[in-house]
Amino acid sequence: MANRRFSALNEVINRKAVEINYPGQVSEYYGKHVFGIDAMREFLSEEAFNSVKDAMEKGSPIDRKIADQVAACMKAWAQSKGVTHYTHWFQPLTGTTAEKHDGFFDPIGGGRVIERFGGSQLVQQEPDASSFPNGGIRNTFEARGYTAWDPTSPAFIWGKTLCIPTIFVSYTGEALDYKTPLLKSLHALDKAATEVCQYFDKNVSKVIATLGWEQEYFLVDAALYNVRYDLQQTGRTLFGHSAAKGQQLEDHYWGSIPERALAYMKDFEYECHLLGIPVKTRHNEVAPAQFECAPVFEEVNLAVDHNQLLMDVMEKVAARHNLRVLLHEKPFAGVNGSGKHNNWSLATSTGKNLLSPGKTPKTNLQFLTFFINTIKAVHEHADLMRASIATANNDHRLGANEAPPAIMSVFLGSQLNNILDDLEKSVPAGKMTPEIKTALKLGIGKIPDILLDNTDRNRTSPFAFTGNKFEFRAVGSSANCSGAMTVLNAIVAEQLNTFIKEVNALVDQKIEKDEAIFQVLKKYIVESKKIRFEGNGYGDEWVKEAKKRGLNNITTTPNALDAYVSDKSLHLFESLSIMSHREQEARYEICLETYTKKIQIESRIIGDIALNQVIPSAIKYQKTLIDNVNGMKSILSADEFKGAAQIQLELIKEISERVNVIKSDVDKMTEERKQANTLDSAKKQALAYCDKVKPYFESIRYHVDKLELIVDDVQWTLPKYRELLNLR
Ligand code: ADP
Ligand code: MG
Repeated sequence: MANRRFSALNEVINRKAVEINYPGQVSEYYGKHVFGIDAMREFLSEEAFNSVKDAMEKGSPIDRKIADQVAACMKAWAQSKGVTHYTHWFQPLTGTTAEKHDGFFDPIGGGRVIERFGGSQLVQQEPDASSFPNGGIRNTFEARGYTAWDPTSPAFIWGKTLCIPTIFVSYTGEALDYKTPLLKSLHALDKAATEVCQYFDKNVSKVIATLGWEQEYFLVDAALYNVRYDLQQTGRTLFGHSAAKGQQLEDHYWGSIPERALAYMKDFEYECHLLGIPVKTRHNEVAPAQFECAPVFEEVNLAVDHNQLLMDVMEKVAARHNLRVLLHEKPFAGVNGSGKHNNWSLATSTGKNLLSPGKTPKTNLQFLTFFINTIKAVHEHADLMRASIATANNDHRLGANEAPPAIMSVFLGSQLNNILDDLEKSVPAGKMTPEIKTALKLGIGKIPDILLDNTDRNRTSPFAFTGNKFEFRAVGSSANCSGAMTVLNAIVAEQLNTFIKEVNALVDQKIEKDEAIFQVLKKYIVESKKIRFEGNGYGDEWVKEAKKRGLNNITTTPNALDAYVSDKSLHLFESLSIMSHREQEARYEICLETYTKKIQIESRIIGDIALNQVIPSAIKYQKTLIDNVNGMKSILSADEFKGAAQIQLELIKEISERVNVIKSDVDKMTEERKQANTLDSAKKQALAYCDKVKPYFESIRYHVDKLELIVDDVQWTLPKYRELLNLR
């Protein structure tokens, strides 16, 4: 039988970029598959339109009669585009999106059907919750869950199906998804931030959080992917020696985009634009075959939905181009992994970015208030931030030499750092003199000019301020942004509430409002100092320095997740009505279980590939060598033979040694797995998989990769890094 790697390589040779013709400019087709404001205005009565708009903007409920109207219009709109099915589209804790398509048609007797879609189908559905991760929330006798319409994220058409974004909760009302706590965190943040805004501007009636994600990914040819069982099942290569040429020459970053990749990008961008996802930026990333796309930022809930949808679109569109997209955080050892920077800010109903310095001392005091409170929040909840990005996949990235470290810190840039230092020094403990007040106001009035030429960019920080937003860089490329965003919204909301209390307490003591704000901000600057770090986050120096400062460096997921259920975190989520203890504990269990399952699957596949593919290839080659040695022996004299067969004999020995280690490590690893499976708690199991099973991955891989270097290329069945990472 032909070597499957070579069959795949033959397919790849003939690949061409798949060019598609697109209808004109983006403005001509943008949002055509979204039941957004324009479609609603066209299809809904004025009453229904206003009601949905109020629901979107103010969260007001939609009554049943209106829901019926909206459903009928949605159906008419969707049918005008050839749609036959609808689905509630939600985000269970599996990390992907879920959909169950139902036809619009309803039997009406006499063997006939009509198309029907009513308010009740729009507003609520009852999927079986037992088949989704629920962390023990589900009572065994009551497996029902509910999905409920989220009118703040518009319905859209994907394929021939109308998709209605929904939340997903258990029969007893607990969140079983990412969206429910996210929406609650956004509500808590709105409330707190709007109240803080009143100190500065009474016209602000609402504050929204904004998110612009940057999605990194790899592309590999589908034929090669199909013969890499590890890529298919785990999303990453469990074996593979580095290619001679990796990313050393730094010639891929922002380089000219390979034709096939470009054709693919145009195609998924087109689909995204139909869906109203504002993807705008594309470029090559650092590693070979690695790329990035980024949209214009949007309100967080919508941005999260759009990112989830994008990942689905990217996977589906890749098939048309004979490509596979890898969203995994670390598909290839030895070259960069992929992240998803979450750019986050706050915007007011009056159209201001609260993290953008203004033109006057007053707007800058407002800027400093939100800026410093965010830093303080990260300081208070650094471990929870760490937990929010902890997954088996992301463990490969955090702390590796190309990704932000597992130590949480905040980068501000030297100018803002100086401003905070100055503020700390210039605000006296007691009452301020008029001179000090004037000096302070003059000082903060200067921020905009200074920031304009603040081009400082620190790529090594997990959480960096970048001019008018914070960038949470440690988020993994395959993650649902909600995990990180819910935590960030929640900690900032809590912090702003504390701020209000502290400022008001001073105002009650007859201290003038601005002065009170300065006093509290100064206190926060002092208290949160240790979280600020401007240096190189990749260096060993920082690890030592962070330890001295008392910052945690939690390198593995099972330990990082503890922060989800610390008293502090439980209190945070409960006091803001984002999640109950039970919901939070369930989430913690699910994260641990997911971790364990991922490592378990990887471990099994390592065993399979090592025993079924690697060792047979090595032995086949070894047999060739043995035949060769035997042949030499029969035709050469004893002396001649000694010199001539030396290399072959060494190779035969090396193969035997490596094969022995591989086999024995696979056996030991299997034994550790069995032990781990008998443990009685999710935490113990996750720890055992992390500390006892996973260490074998490296040792097995080491010997497999060495064999890859010596075994005859023709006999090696796994596509090599130089082939996988060579996209034209
Ligand atoms: P970078 O230099 O990091 O690539 P960009 O300015 O290109 O920075 O922005 C990257 C992402 O940040 C984009 O998705 C962009 O829309 C987003 N972004 C810009 N401003 C904001 C904001 N106020 N809130 C949230 N995201 C933002
Ligand atoms: Mg960025």
